[in-house]
Amino acid sequence: MAIFSLLTQFRESANTFLSQFEPLTLVIAPILSLLIAGFLQSLISTVHENGLKSCLIASFMYLIKLVPGVKSYVDAEKQKVVDKMQAGNKSKRDNWRTELPATGFGSRVIEMMKEEKRKDAAWQGKCSGTVYIGGTEADDHFSLINEACSMFSHTNPLHLDVFQSVVHYEAEVVAMTAAMLGSKDKASGGQICGNMTSGGTESILLAVKSSRDYMRTKKGIKKPEMIIPVSAHSAYDKAAQYFNIKLWRVPVNNEYQADVKAIRRYINKNTILIVGSAPGFPHGIIDPIEELGKLAMSFGVCFHVDLCLGGFVLPFARKLGYPIPPFDFSVQGVTSISIDVHKYGLAPKGTSTVLYRNHEIRKHQFVAVTEWSGGLYVSPTIAGSRPGGLIAGAWAAMMSLGEEGYLENTRQIMDVSKKIQEGIKSIPELYVVGRPDMTIVAFASNVVDIFEVNDQMSSKGWHLNALQRPNSLHICLTLQHVSVADDFLKVLQDSVRTVKENPGPISGGLAPIYGAAGRMPDRGMVQELLVNFMDSSC
Ligand SMILES: *Cc1c(COP(=O)(O)O)cnc(C)c1O
Repeated sequence: MAIFSLLTQFRESANTFLSQFEPLTLVIAPILSLLIAGFLQSLISTVHENGLKSCLIASFMYLIKLVPGVKSYVDAEKQKVVDKMQAGNKSKRDNWRTELPATGFGSRVIEMMKEEKRKDAAWQGKCSGTVYIGGTEADDHFSLINEACSMFSHTNPLHLDVFQSVVHYEAEVVAMTAAMLGSKDKASGGQICGNMTSGGTESILLAVKSSRDYMRTKKGIKKPEMIIPVSAHSAYDKAAQYFNIKLWRVPVNNEYQADVKAIRRYINKNTILIVGSAPGFPHGIIDPIEELGKLAMSFGVCFHVDLCLGGFVLPFARKLGYPIPPFDFSVQGVTSISIDVHKYGLAPKGTSTVLYRNHEIRKHQFVAVTEWSGGLYVSPTIAGSRPGGLIAGAWAAMMSLGEEGYLENTRQIMDVSKKIQEGIKSIPELYVVGRPDMTIVAFASNVVDIFEVNDQMSSKGWHLNALQRPNSLHICLTLQHVSVADDFLKVLQDSVRTVKENPGPISGGLAPIYGAAGRMPDRGMVQELLVNFMDSSC
């Protein structure tokens, strides 16, 4: 009873206290409730976007860093990791030049550069992807494209009245790649068009930008969103950040392919674009392009197919009789495609092509300026001035190889891919991730730490790609590997055995960092680490 009366008393005095503020409450209450509602709404949408777990972790990390000393401790630990990732690089930079030489070195620079070139790691036959030209005719092909580049290194297609030559080459590279991807098919609509760019990333950036602006015109979308499978290239993240587009990343299915049903659930009135890869970079697996095309058509959204890796392999693999599912403009609903000439097209680095279903979409890629005192200006891609030499190099690569050349190359790399897949399957500790469709083979282990295996391979001069979710490695097979497949498999087998016999990290390896970064729940921290690493690298 005593407690009860105490409570009543308390309530009464609280009421008297509060009543003093009543007029104020009338004004403040609605504002406050609006603020709270706004806060709750943004909280709910943040949780919806990033998941409850990562939101809780981010808030926890934010709070804990407010404790005196914790932030500086965390920063110091972060620096240690960055230093480890940088191991040895710092001292190397000590005698790097920081100023222009007072007197030029003249032609002696060539000797200096030859010496510098020798310091690069031995890449021949040892890298995943990276250098795609290889085999017995590699030297001839390198000389040919280098000669083509140097003949046109002074040119710039921005000045199309002066350099008709490279304008002509760009148009032909675009037409030839388009024809490889179904432009001659009636079903394509006969309007396929495109441009050359500096690489896969620029092709993707442009396709995303054009889709965004096209959908703004077509549907009035002002808060654009796009949906990608988690296997799609990081260039889409770059595009989302650069062009202010909300990005939804959707898990793949059990076969490591885009999950069409899951993607469908994310489509709403603001969706501008969905994405499929043929194949995706991580596991080399082709997404269900036909189903994605149907989905895109039924919702009237754009659909980009990433053929950066597959564009110069799949059309030829199909001709050679490999069972390749549809992937190009013959699929209804595909609105744009990116295809790298500087990968399996065996062109010089810095060359890719972006293609569109029709001119209506592509027009949104261009920037035209009418009010500049520098005159009327129009440019098709991100760069203003563009390297005509590289366009000439790409044209030379495609024209010198021709269809027969690419068919022969494809036959060789598809053979080596089969051999590597079989070899990996015969190592009992490893398994191949999913079913690779062409020449990228990802593998993982339930027995050994795959990142330790990677360190072992690195210590023997191999450069593979480390992947996450699941932790795995991949090798992107090129002509460089045709003659070293057996060596690769032997080194891989030895590395697995070494790791199995000596579990625990080898000194100087990156496996602990990869392992820890994968397990770290605070992804914001991992992101900061990457930025700090980049910031200290260049
Ligand atoms: C390489 C690649 C890209 C990006 O290309 P860059 O030339 O590195 O900019 C995009 N998508 C896929 C599937 C790729 O393999």
